[in-house]
Amino acid sequence: MGLYVVFLGPPGVGKGTQAVVVAKERGLAHLSTGDMLRQAIRLRTPVGEKAKPYMDRGGLVPDEVVNGLVRERIGFKDARVGFLLDGYPRNVEQAVRLDSYLDELGRSLSGVVHLTAPPEILINRIVERGRTAGDKARSDDNEEVVRRRLDVYRNETAPLVAYYRDRGLLTEVMATAEVPVVSAAISRVLDRMAVHPATDHSTSIGQ
Ligand code: AMP
Repeated sequence: MGLYVVFLGPPGVGKGTQAVVVAKERGLAHLSTGDMLRQAIRLRTPVGEKAKPYMDRGGLVPDEVVNGLVRERIGFKDARVGFLLDGYPRNVEQAVRLDSYLDELGRSLSGVVHLTAPPEILINRIVERGRTAGDKARSDDNEEVVRRRLDVYRNETAPLVAYYRDRGLLTEVMATAEVPVVSAAISRVLDRMAVHPATDHSTSIGQ
């Protein structure tokens, strides 16, 4: 049985950083729709052309564009042992599609890790990332676009917390500590998911 996990959390919470670290440590595929879209834009593919105006404004790229990328990518060989999905799903429609794509492959989600941090920390982290990233800077890391991304998160993505909690799939991890401390907490959550998929592990954190 593979480990098929969604990372959920607001912009600036450190989802991408943690997904890279934890995926490497556990030999899982790191699937970031943001990275896929940024690459498509760099390569000027049709997907990139479609996605760019939405990303520049901090809005969501239309579902049919992103769903297609994910459907293809989760079928790749490296995702068979498991994956960490970072930045997808972003709304309930995408979550429903994800279930059906996994179903096609005879798989189901092992669990969802919900990374949390107080709002003031989120804005500071992103604006700081925009300032210090040099030529890796993201064009959507300026304050106005960040505020829009946080609004989009609240309105479209946050409902997924209840959606997955109701299905017993959600585990909360507070992501304010230093990167290795948070990675270790996530890793413990994944250990439990590997043994008992589809149970709420929230209460076990920090105990
Ligand atoms: P991220 O790197 O995950 O913060 O994503 C950066 C931007 O890419 C977002 O602000 C959206 O414009 C777009 N994006 C990434 N993932 C998705 C998704 N699952 N659905 C729609 N848009 C997305």
